[in-house]
Amino acid sequence: MASQSTRPTRLEQLTDSVRLILFRQDRILLNAGEFFWSPRSVESLAAKPPALLSVGEAGGHSYLAAELENENDLESRSLRSLLFGEADTDLELLSKARQLLNWHRTHRFCGICGCPTALDDNGKILICEKCSYQFFPRINPCVIMLVTRGEEILLARSARFRSGYYSCLAGFVEIGETPEQTVLREVREETGVEIENIRYVESQSWPFPSQLMLGFLADYKTGEIVPEPEEIEDAGWFALSDLPLTPSASVTIAGRLIQGYRRSMLDQL
Ligand SMILES: [Zn+2]
Repeated sequence: MASQSTRPTRLEQLTDSVRLILFRQDRILLNAGEFFWSPRSVESLAAKPPALLSVGEAGGHSYLAAELENENDLESRSLRSLLFGEADTDLELLSKARQLLNWHRTHRFCGICGCPTALDDNGKILICEKCSYQFFPRINPCVIMLVTRGEEILLARSARFRSGYYSCLAGFVEIGETPEQTVLREVREETGVEIENIRYVESQSWPFPSQLMLGFLADYKTGEIVPEPEEIEDAGWFALSDLPLTPSASVTIAGRLIQGYRRSMLDQL
C-alpha cells in the first residue's frame, strides 16, 4: 500500500474512488454489511466524522479512516471478530485504520502545554497548536517467543485465555532494552527458566491496541518452570506430538511459531 501525499479534510472534497472506514471506538461500523463506505453514503449519516485520517491505497482506491461518536443505530463488528476468515487486505486496512484512530483519539491535547493538537497537512503527525510539539503515531514493540527443548515446547496460559488454550510467552519491550534482552527477561520472569540461542523469526502488527509483535525462537538452557503468580495461570513442557489447543497459525504469529517449529522437527525425522 502506498501512502497519500495530501490529506482531504472534508467529505465534499472526496472523489468517488475514496473508500471510508468508520469506527465507533473498537467497533467497525458496517455499511449494509460491508466494511467500506463511499463519501456519498457517509454524507447521509446524521453525525459527520470529525477528522479524516489517511490509511493508504489498495486496489485503485484511497482509504480514509474516521471515528463517529454517536451512530448507535448502525450495525457494527469488533475488529477481533474479523481475525478469522476475512481477506488479508481488508484486515490490514481495518487494523491500520483502528490504530491510527486510536492514536488520534488519545493525542487530542499536548502533553507538554495542554493545548489542542491538529493533524499536519499529510495527516501523519499531530502537532500542538501552541508549542508545535510533534506527536507521531505510536507503536508498542513486544516480543513473543517459543522456547524449545528438542521435541518439547514451553507453552503457558493466562487467566484471560479461552478455556483450554495455551500459547507462547510474550511481553512488552521496556525502554533501553533490545528485543533479545526482553526475550531473556520475560522468559526468566514468567517461568524462571534460562534460555540461550535467541533468534528472530518474523513479526506481526497486532492492533489491540497498537503492538508490533516480534517473534523469536530460543533454546532451553537450565531451570525448572515456576509460573509467575498473577501473570501465568499454568505453564509446562508440551510434546510436539501431543499439543494442547493453540492459536491459529493462519492468523497469529504465536500459531506460526508453534506450527513452524513443529514442521521443522517433523522434517528431521
Ligand atoms: Zn504544546
